[in-house]
Amino acid sequence: MTEHLAPTELDAAQAKAELTRLADLIGRYNTAYYTHDAPEVSDAEYDALRKRYDAIVALHPESEPAESAAQTVGAAPDNAFGKHRHLVPMLSLDNVFDQTEFEAFISRATRFLGLSEADAQKLAFVAEPKIDGLSISLTYENGRFVRGTTRGDGTEGEDVTANLLTLKDLPQQLEGHAPELIEIRGEVFLSKEHFLALNAAQEAIGRKPFANPRNAAAGSLRQLDPRVTARRPLSLFAYAMGFSSEKQARSHWAYLEQLRAWGFPVNPLSRRLEAASGAEAFFEEIGRARAALSYDIDGVVYKIDDLTLQERLGFAGRAPRWAVAWKFPAEQAITTLRAIEIQVGRTGALTPVAHLDPVNVGGVLVMRATLHNEDEIARKDVRPGDTVQIQRAGDVIPQILAVVPPGPDAPPRAEPFHFPDHCPACGALAVRPEGEAVRRCTGGLTCPAQIVERLIHFVSRNAFDIEGLGERSIREFYEEGLIHTPADIFRLHTHAESIMKRDGWGEQSVRNLMQAIEARRTIAFSRFIFALGIRRIGESNARLLARHYGTYENWVAQLRKAAIIGSDERLELGSITGIGSVIADDLVAFMSEEHNLATLEDLRSFLNITEEEQTSGGPLAGKTVVFTGTLHTLTRQEARAMAERMGAKVSDSVSKKTDLVILGEKAGSKAKKAAELGIDTLDEAGWNDFCASQG
Ligand code: NAD
Repeated sequence: MTEHLAPTELDAAQAKAELTRLADLIGRYNTAYYTHDAPEVSDAEYDALRKRYDAIVALHPESEPAESAAQTVGAAPDNAFGKHRHLVPMLSLDNVFDQTEFEAFISRATRFLGLSEADAQKLAFVAEPKIDGLSISLTYENGRFVRGTTRGDGTEGEDVTANLLTLKDLPQQLEGHAPELIEIRGEVFLSKEHFLALNAAQEAIGRKPFANPRNAAAGSLRQLDPRVTARRPLSLFAYAMGFSSEKQARSHWAYLEQLRAWGFPVNPLSRRLEAASGAEAFFEEIGRARAALSYDIDGVVYKIDDLTLQERLGFAGRAPRWAVAWKFPAEQAITTLRAIEIQVGRTGALTPVAHLDPVNVGGVLVMRATLHNEDEIARKDVRPGDTVQIQRAGDVIPQILAVVPPGPDAPPRAEPFHFPDHCPACGALAVRPEGEAVRRCTGGLTCPAQIVERLIHFVSRNAFDIEGLGERSIREFYEEGLIHTPADIFRLHTHAESIMKRDGWGEQSVRNLMQAIEARRTIAFSRFIFALGIRRIGESNARLLARHYGTYENWVAQLRKAAIIGSDERLELGSITGIGSVIADDLVAFMSEEHNLATLEDLRSFLNITEEEQTSGGPLAGKTVVFTGTLHTLTRQEARAMAERMGAKVSDSVSKKTDLVILGEKAGSKAKKAAELGIDTLDEAGWNDFCASQG
């Protein structure tokens, strides 16, 4: 329990444990952020972890783990891309958050250089807005763009040349004289407008929105298909040089001029400061300009202008000694929480949204904030009517930090907020599986918030596969009230006349559609289960269920009985190999919902659901097989797949219905039970022989 102690309270052993814990967390968050472009925590939380890490290392340098994620830059390049080694490494930047920390940076640098107080006062800087995008290295050979690479882990990056070619800001040929070989460094970013539009589009197709413009830019550039990148209007600012085969300007400022002359966009707000004393005023000026900029920035980067001094200063660990990022604080405000609304997403997730009295936070009018989930509301004890502190960080979507304690004369608070256990959109039960943060509506097939997505899934290729009925028609028919449930698809013929009159439809196409629907009235049981879109029931689980229960009627009856925890039916469901208790919970919740059952029965009345093909009467067709104990020559998955190929159902528990038990080493209680029930058994060698004999 070292995490609650201040760095100064830790002894050496505790420091070691705490550093290891922090390094592990930082490593995990780095992967989420850099590799998956989807951070797990806010930047403020991440920065606080790093700050704590650095503070502990400063006190206990000997306790730092040998291979610490805190010492790395970014994350290793993703294998999906070609890799490329940078000729000059691409590093990170140290952060400061106030004037005192900035001055400490100046003194470290000037002490390193051995400058007198007077010379230190005269040190010139270039200050540039810190763009919230991702850094990129652009290689030019004899003035021609040949390769573009992400930062990766600083040494090796991902080759994203094809994607970069879709950027209209990127010069493919440098203007004027260019060195034989040069690496240009810059930032690729999305404007605020395009970021918001991209997130709206992500949400419209049921994908998670990006947390901030930087992740959105990274997600857009790190695409395997350049056509996707081309649809995302990325921009570029160039701001530095990596390798150059020719000597370049001796000051960073002159170098920026050169970049402009070559044809690169260079941030027009960049400024040369005659001395560090101008840094704070510039920081404030940029802070004021920030809200009106068309792109997001998260601070100001200060770079010592003299390149000879930059070279002398060099690097310490993962960042240069000659530059620093002065970051904006997260912007906060106080307002009143009017109401907590529970929204239902397309996948049935219930998300709380706080409605606020509008308040200006750093130039942006905020009316809503996220409350994340049920536990967060309880932890912060947020109630409607409370005065709350809100924060807008890099994360764009503002969050509620805390409730401001009411004064002595404040009216009494509302009752604690109770998170609903029924869906506000359709009234079905909303369940929260153990270990999960999110509560979900179980009324998938009837819930208006989810139905369109469910219908699209229902007719999709691996489900009912209805030709001529795609996403667009589903949306159109739903909006016009022609279909509300899957069964309505089979009633669509009653609207044939009116469909024919629509744009894009003719007599023939309607006839074809009706025939395609008719043809699907006979459907395999496993496809039917998959088509229902029950959470976690993909094709392979649908097949397992179809094989196990055989018929629709049996399946429904057994799952209804399985609602009773501890019942034989519940145990049986949980013991189907591959299903497990979490999936069992989802299935039972689905089947316990009367709306769903009514929808199923309605649908069933149109269909001929055929029994699952029992792997064409293999040698174990219709038999239930159990594996127990440790197998040495094959994994459990292999063994299971072999049995299934031969037509068997594989179960995890031994019962009267079991036909064969394969006993691995230390088989234990299941072996005993098999013996008691007189069930056939084979040892591992016997099983292998049996399989071999079946070819
Ligand atoms: P950084 O973003 O703090 O600074 C370095 C980067 O700044 C450079 O690589 C470059 O891309 C960028 N930059 C923008 N404008 C620049 C300019 N004018 N000149 C030079 N560089 C410029 O460092 P980092 O290592 O990329 O990332 C660390 C930061 O990322 C953390 O402080 C944190 O905020 C965030 N992060 C968050 C999480 C999370 O889980 N939320 C995880 C990892 C990193």
